[in-house]
Amino acid sequence: MVSGQALGAFAVHEANSGSNAGAITTTARKDGDEYVVNGSKFFITSAGEADVYLVLVRTDPEKGPQGMSALLIEKEAHGLSFGHPEDKMGFRSSSSREMFFNDCRVPSANLVGVEGGGLQVIGQNVIGWGFFGAAGISVGIALAAVDLAVKHAKERTIAGQPIGVHQAVQSLIADMIIRSEAAETLLASCAVKADASQNSATINGFKAKLFASESAVEVTNKAIQVMGGHGYCRDYTVERLFRDARGLTLHFKTSEWLRQDVAKAALGL
Ligand SMILES: Cc1cc2nc3c(=O)[nH]c(=O)nc-3n(C[C@H](O)[C@H](O)[C@H](O)COP(=O)(O)OP(=O)(O)OC[C@H]3O[C@@H](n4cnc5c(N)ncnc54)[C@H](O)[C@@H]3O)c2cc1C
Repeated sequence: MVSGQALGAFAVHEANSGSNAGAITTTARKDGDEYVVNGSKFFITSAGEADVYLVLVRTDPEKGPQGMSALLIEKEAHGLSFGHPEDKMGFRSSSSREMFFNDCRVPSANLVGVEGGGLQVIGQNVIGWGFFGAAGISVGIALAAVDLAVKHAKERTIAGQPIGVHQAVQSLIADMIIRSEAAETLLASCAVKADASQNSATINGFKAKLFASESAVEVTNKAIQVMGGHGYCRDYTVERLFRDARGLTLHFKTSEWLRQDVAKAALGL
């Protein structure tokens, strides 16, 4: 994977777990020097294409969050199969599929960390830093939408005047610029705090992803408004940027979960 020859993916979400990793039901039972995995994962990015999967499973159903473990499962593992690609609104160049584990046998050496430490493995190594990645994608989308809208407002002329001379259009553009830069600045600030204190990485990632993904939706929506009917057409990139941005408020954890997590951290709940 480090050399770029193999693709990795992570599989936490299940059809009935939502953003709540604690609600997963996929099990892994120890059998000699193997785990036997049964269950399914839903909406997994790169499923079927990735070579190796970091999968959250229940190794001890009696122990709640302490009964979860992280297993590395290879694509060719016996008993692993994949569903059809979801017909998504955005991020259409990356596939999302269901994964099915039917008595899937995995060497116990593929356990990552310790048995019962799955939530920590996923939280610290995937989700914590992954939220910064999602925030970065969101900021990139928002800044790209600003560039495209500004260019269009200069070039599109109606009755001999570029539409950018109108204050109503300028107002949209000003809001887009400020919101994008605010998201970029918050992301940088959260990253600095996470670097200074590894324990704060997850909560700072939550804040950055929440604000940046919602900013990307707002900014791309306004970009479509600036571009009028053109922006609503597939020939123009802002239409795709809006669809991609929309998925980012759902990806990993929804905005609703992130708001609750940020507030709970402050309240000590
Ligand atoms: C583009 C994309 C890529 C993804 N890639 C992956 C991946 O690679 N690996 C992976 O494991 N998962 C992946 N997912 C799945 C993603 O983690 C889930 O879609 C997400 O956690 C939301 O779960 P859900 O879709 O089941 O929504 P639901 O849980 O059904 O939520 C529906 C609504 O109810 C709200 N809600 C639900 N429960 C609560 C609650 N307790 N409190 C407040 N509000 C609540 C939600 O916020 C949302 O508004 C991906 C999703 C997307 C969109």
